[in-house]
Amino acid sequence: MKKNDDIILNITDVTLDGNGVGRHEGMAVFVPATAPGDEIDCHITKVNKSYAFGICRSIRKPSPHRQDRGCAVFGRCGGCSFRHISYEAECRIKEKAVLDDFLRIGGFERGTFEYLPIMGDTRTDRYRNKAQYPIAADESGRAFCGFYAKRSHRVIECGDCLLQPEIFSSIAGRMIQLINERHIPVYDETTGKGCVRHIYLRRGEHSGQIQLTAVAAYDHRGLREILGIVGEEFGDIGSVVLNINPRRDNVILGEKCITVSKGGTITDIMCGSEITLSPLSFYQVNTLQAERLYAAAKAFAAPAGDEELLDLYCGAGTIGLSMAKDVKHLTGVEIVPQAVENARKNADANGITNADFICDDAGGAAKRFSEQGLRPDIIITDPPRKGCDTATLEAIISMSPKRVVMVSCDPATAARDCAYLSGHGYALKAVQAVDLYPGTGHVETVVLMSKVGVE
Ligand code: SAH
Repeated sequence: MKKNDDIILNITDVTLDGNGVGRHEGMAVFVPATAPGDEIDCHITKVNKSYAFGICRSIRKPSPHRQDRGCAVFGRCGGCSFRHISYEAECRIKEKAVLDDFLRIGGFERGTFEYLPIMGDTRTDRYRNKAQYPIAADESGRAFCGFYAKRSHRVIECGDCLLQPEIFSSIAGRMIQLINERHIPVYDETTGKGCVRHIYLRRGEHSGQIQLTAVAAYDHRGLREILGIVGEEFGDIGSVVLNINPRRDNVILGEKCITVSKGGTITDIMCGSEITLSPLSFYQVNTLQAERLYAAAKAFAAPAGDEELLDLYCGAGTIGLSMAKDVKHLTGVEIVPQAVENARKNADANGITNADFICDDAGGAAKRFSEQGLRPDIIITDPPRKGCDTATLEAIISMSPKRVVMVSCDPATAARDCAYLSGHGYALKAVQAVDLYPGTGHVETVVLMSKVGVE
């Protein structure tokens, strides 16, 4: 096989980033936006040693899983992987991908742990509570916003993204209109010049309160004025913030938040607890499904009322607080100071007096706890995509909890971390994929590990 060949290809598998996979002359061929069961005319675009890439010229026989889930920019925007197949098929793909990670990366044997069916979402559109729209300017200097193309920082203009609440496109559209009218300079990543970078919106699923944040390279009076205007125009906006990010890397938010009007936080309800949120606090993007995820984590943790619970990477405290009334004492650890502040406030607001929140690196804090002789009965970890570092895992092991519940947005690193614990006295009991991100290639996983010899 060589570049520019035209072949007939049967797609038999699919990756989480939405590439269908077929085999030709013993080689895997990856073809975007195709589905298992498709027979296609494939044009080969690149050939490596053991795999190749192609594009689909035409579909000879469509897969029975095909379904057009709508979206004018699917395939160009980097957000979704699966708007061309049914949600049912998407769930099967994610369920298999998570299991494969535990078998291949984790090295666990099929049948030695319980693999629960994926918990799919009941809503496949408009489930998100947060959007971060990068702003760019076209050749004529007109500002527009949208989402990044796959593996790129090219902004694809997107009117109404079907994953977001409809009102987000109205607010973002109004912001862009005023940015153009008032000639606010748009930030240019390549030169580092210009001002306004992102529009960042969040909406409390249960409260309906919206937080409008603009991210800018520097404080700009005209931008503050625009924020003030838009903040007044939409009744649901309950917080208006200017975030300053002068950095020249991929991190969207800077550390400094300036409250422009209506206060710097919004509140929402999560698992029955009132939650206050700053722009810098992590909050699961799909609230209803996150509540189901946390309920699954709680079922795995199985608190009986007298435990010490340690919630590592706790964000605004949501997971631990959902169990605080069922344990003796809760300690949360989180590195972002604003999130810790929110977590403390959230405990107070919910009458929870048996919780402490510590602003620290999870690994460092866990090591200190372990040295101080803290012996939590249950440890919950919910790290970013890269997973836990070895120092954190070692500290967990030395604290010798009865149960470790891992929540993870990357099944590969979760499987790796579970393998480490399983080499140090913990048995993998149960794994469940929970889909918080329909349409996209992402999936959440919750895992129960328990100390060998302790029931
Ligand atoms: N459990 C929370 C947050 C999970 S996201 C929830 O469900 O809402 C992961 C969190 O880990 C983020 O809040 C992030 O700020 C925090 N974090 C990242 N690196 C960390 C570290 N080294 N130590 C402690 N917390 C960290």
